[in-house]
Amino acid sequence: MPGDPASPRSRTSRTHTRLNSTPFREEITVLRRLGLMGAAGSKLEKALGDQFPEGERYLGFENFGNTCYCNSVLQISSQKKKTGVIAPKRFVQRLKKQNELFWSYMHQDAHEFLNYLLNELVEILEKEAQATKTDNATSSSPEKIANGLKVPQANGVHKEPIVTWVHNIFQGILTNETRCLRCETVTARDETFLDLSLDIEQNSSITSCLKNFSSTETLHAEDKFFCDKCCCLQEAQKRMKIKKPPHILVIHLKRFKYIEQLGRYKKLSYRVVFPLELKLSNTVEEYVDIEYSLFAVVVHVGSGPNHGHYVSLVKSHNHWLFFDDESVEMIEESAVQTFFGSSQEYSSNTDHGYILLYESLGTR
Ligand SMILES: [Zn+2]
Repeated sequence: MPGDPASPRSRTSRTHTRLNSTPFREEITVLRRLGLMGAAGSKLEKALGDQFPEGERYLGFENFGNTCYCNSVLQISSQKKKTGVIAPKRFVQRLKKQNELFWSYMHQDAHEFLNYLLNELVEILEKEAQATKTDNATSSSPEKIANGLKVPQANGVHKEPIVTWVHNIFQGILTNETRCLRCETVTARDETFLDLSLDIEQNSSITSCLKNFSSTETLHAEDKFFCDKCCCLQEAQKRMKIKKPPHILVIHLKRFKYIEQLGRYKKLSYRVVFPLELKLSNTVEEYVDIEYSLFAVVVHVGSGPNHGHYVSLVKSHNHWLFFDDESVEMIEESAVQTFFGSSQEYSSNTDHGYILLYESLGTR
């Protein structure tokens, strides 16, 4: 924290132990390898000097016609050079082939792209796992038959859900608790999530947005709840809590809102403070003290929803890097706060934090 010389050091040592012990080290390293820089590359190498983290590559992504929504989210590299530029042309071609949403050169949404990427990854990994399972079952079945122990094949009867690394890293569980106001019975319904989309307010913070997300809502009039115990519709109170926090918490700020009076979407430039270290308050008791550390921010640049640009900030080995298509530079940690948003409606600063990625530090 600025003004507290002791804190960056303590954070450094903790980060190292944590990263080396995390079961997802490789996947997280891949996620952190955003790319960037052309001529600016050597400047960054100079700036980092001896401190250039071993094995790390900071590579740029060329933007060929509104692909920054993808560059800002993509974090992959297989290059030998420490710095340079990659043109993710084949990736984008494949992406357009797979999904017509990305066909046009129109401005795309980075959050939609992230969702699409994660869901597509899950689908591919599940197919692969299913194929391996079937192979194993086929190769071992003759023996089973010989011993008379052949278990019925899972023809969808006992289908266990496949857990992929995407689930291990990003998936959390929300629980929707509904309390019948007549008999006080609490009904809980769980649902999984890969990210949380939060409504935002002017001059607020992530903590207050999360509080609103989990605030109690009364179901009445048309919205009454069917209570199984009372066997009829009753007034009830509903509340959403985090039952299992994910390892990486992805927070999407709903900055693009449909305004009925205008008949179109509008970008909300609201100032929403996001801390470098976040304590979740809307969890079930078991996780009441879980802490997270910010390690990446996807920033939307521009004043409207239909045009603009995306850039990203990524923390790598305790340095904050600023990625803007093919350029990359180091920034001070204190500069992260310039992306909180604007406290006034019309401001020259149009660079606003849009997707936040937090890594769990565990409970203490
Ligand atoms: Zn009831």
